[in-house]
Amino acid sequence: MSIPQLQQAAVVENPGENFTVVLRDNVPVGNPGTDEVLIKLNCTGICHSEVRAVLGWGVYNSIIGHEGVGTIVKAGPNVSPSLMGQRVGFKWLYNACTECSVCRRGFFQNCPKQLNTSRHVPGTLQQYAIADARFLTKIPDGVRDEVAAPLLCAGLTMAGALAHLDNELQPGDWVVISGSGGGLGHIGVQLAARVKKLRVIAVDSGDEKRGLSLSSGAEFFIDFKTEDVAKRVLELTEEGAHATIVVPGEKEAFQMAPTLVRNMGHIICVGLPRNDIELPISATLCAARGLTIKGSSVGSEEQMTELLQLALDGVITPAIEVFDFSEAPNLIRQITKDAILGRAVVTIP
Ligand SMILES: [Zn+2]
Ligand SMILES: [Zn+2]
Repeated sequence: MSIPQLQQAAVVENPGENFTVVLRDNVPVGNPGTDEVLIKLNCTGICHSEVRAVLGWGVYNSIIGHEGVGTIVKAGPNVSPSLMGQRVGFKWLYNACTECSVCRRGFFQNCPKQLNTSRHVPGTLQQYAIADARFLTKIPDGVRDEVAAPLLCAGLTMAGALAHLDNELQPGDWVVISGSGGGLGHIGVQLAARVKKLRVIAVDSGDEKRGLSLSSGAEFFIDFKTEDVAKRVLELTEEGAHATIVVPGEKEAFQMAPTLVRNMGHIICVGLPRNDIELPISATLCAARGLTIKGSSVGSEEQMTELLQLALDGVITPAIEVFDFSEAPNLIRQITKDAILGRAVVTIP
């Protein structure tokens, strides 16, 4: 199949309150450089964190998307020809320096010199994308494109967040996951309940998100719009949860977090609010209660491989809805309103 010179892409214009997403058919197809490949994308998940790009909370590429699945169609210099034709996942971590002290510990996702897909380089809402071959994920046969896509950021982010609790919590301990009915949250509930064997209290709002949270393995669901979350968590756990994972990018979710955990509890920060929103936690209470607060960004390649295996084994079952590429502008509008249940995946023409 010949590679065209121009392609279709969804392009963000005028980032900010009045942003638009325009479908174009005249975007140039790139040429892979050293260590790079060209991927023909099959589909991409739409991550909630794209609100940061479209609302202009930072400088992002005009082609967003960082949960892409596709096939390698062209290899640049220094890339093994054996990668040609491989089905791969193209993730938020475009590449890392591999040499700094953080990279040397294996935490490429925390490298201070990392480049990110849809931020520093064009993302996955296009037909053909350039990727760094060293940081791609091989998708196992048997995991469908649209199942793999949401695992590449949403799933990996929750696997990474839960891994921070591995040495702290025991099976049967309580974890509160806020934003439990969204793209990240529901996979987090599945991992926590089905894999880590934790008791999960899910926090979100509305009947649909309640249903998805409970079917994902949460033992209890608390509707933050109609219930007193802290009071309910205390009733259910007696002393508070052992840990909470804050998934929503809302100040209120971070404000609530310390009220949900017991003394010596763990707060894992995943959600990405505007940069000027700071953690609203009393320094004195943090010290007196012995709380641990940890930030978590995506996860490691090892966690990615484990997650895809869990999907292959049917343990992790992302709730996906597949849309046509032409729906992309509308879907991106929806994520700014938090109106999506589970994960939206867009097919790429
Ligand atoms: Zn993401
Ligand atoms: Zn590094």
